[in-house]
Amino acid sequence: MQVTARQKQLLYNLWREGGLSRWELHKRTGFTPNGVGQVAGELLELGIIREGVPQPSKAGRPRTPLEIDTQERHVAGMAIRRGQVSACRLNLRGQMISGMHVHKIDMTDHPEAVIETAANLLPQVIDRKTLGVGVSVTGLIDPEAQSILFSSAVQGRSATQGGISLHPIQLAANDLPVLFDNDMHALAARWALTHQAELNQDLLLVSISEGAVGAAMLVDGKPNRGCVLSANEIGHTRFFVETEPCYCGHQGCLERICSTGFLHMRNPNDQRTLLEQAAVYRSGENDALEEVIQYLGMSLANMVNFVRPNRLVLVSEVTRYPAFTDELLRRVRGAVLMNLVDRVQIDLWDQPAARNAETAGWLGLTGLYCEDWGGMHTNVPI
Ligand SMILES: [Zn+2]
Repeated sequence: MQVTARQKQLLYNLWREGGLSRWELHKRTGFTPNGVGQVAGELLELGIIREGVPQPSKAGRPRTPLEIDTQERHVAGMAIRRGQVSACRLNLRGQMISGMHVHKIDMTDHPEAVIETAANLLPQVIDRKTLGVGVSVTGLIDPEAQSILFSSAVQGRSATQGGISLHPIQLAANDLPVLFDNDMHALAARWALTHQAELNQDLLLVSISEGAVGAAMLVDGKPNRGCVLSANEIGHTRFFVETEPCYCGHQGCLERICSTGFLHMRNPNDQRTLLEQAAVYRSGENDALEEVIQYLGMSLANMVNFVRPNRLVLVSEVTRYPAFTDELLRRVRGAVLMNLVDRVQIDLWDQPAARNAETAGWLGLTGLYCEDWGGMHTNVPI
């Protein structure tokens, strides 16, 4: 099913404000009272909204609010990344309501195996109550051909051999709408829907984790389009630094620097992970970690200078550690252009499981609450 623009407008108001009466919805949306009644009727029928508990009002007649129904319908989320496919269900307020199904992928298997696994897993989380599916993939996607062009999830395929088709996943979804997008865009969707007050601002969202650094850029609340469907590949910005080879085929990529492997290369005697070392960071004590901070800080600052966003949001486990974070932010601010530095707001967002199926489910929610998220809507006639 497809949610209409009028239904979305009403739903977005309910999402943002919780319960609203039909009269309040008329005021918020500008629809006629009859129009509100009609759209609300459609959404009640579909099980997307419900009548809330009547509340006393000054006028005497109790006010019955409409609210998002968290019981009846759901969306499914699926994340495809290196070595695993995961899937789960979210209710229409974004809470996970099923267990997390995880299937491991043997990376020595043929590259299409990951798509087969995903297509086999999907039926376990969808049924006739499912409204849509959000599928997040790492790397670059060709929206027209519906294929993965380049991804750590499907190592072993060169660009000249053609992409890997996502079509089996669409087939497995039957006629449900499936929104494929990059995993960083899924995270940005989650941010956008949970911080809707700032939707008119330009935002740079950067996820930093062990061996994986990604970014998404929201312009006016929507991911910037480009020549391919992808997030902004900050993880593959390169430096003249010796690192382990990156799956992209190069050396010196930022995400290879920001890894335990890099720390161990620099200092084989220290076998602690990146996170363990960041936890006890103290200025001047750990040269290898200082190097990681230096390159990370430089990359973030360059990105800010280039994009000049209203906000830079760092999504990471490493920013739990104040000393590490202070030093990183000091580096970023030190390299951001003077006139920008006071205008760009930097926030830390500690979102557990930031890039898994739960976050992919938020892509599915954009189909209900966002006018147009971008990505590729694949309502392929079968
Ligand atoms: Zn790379």
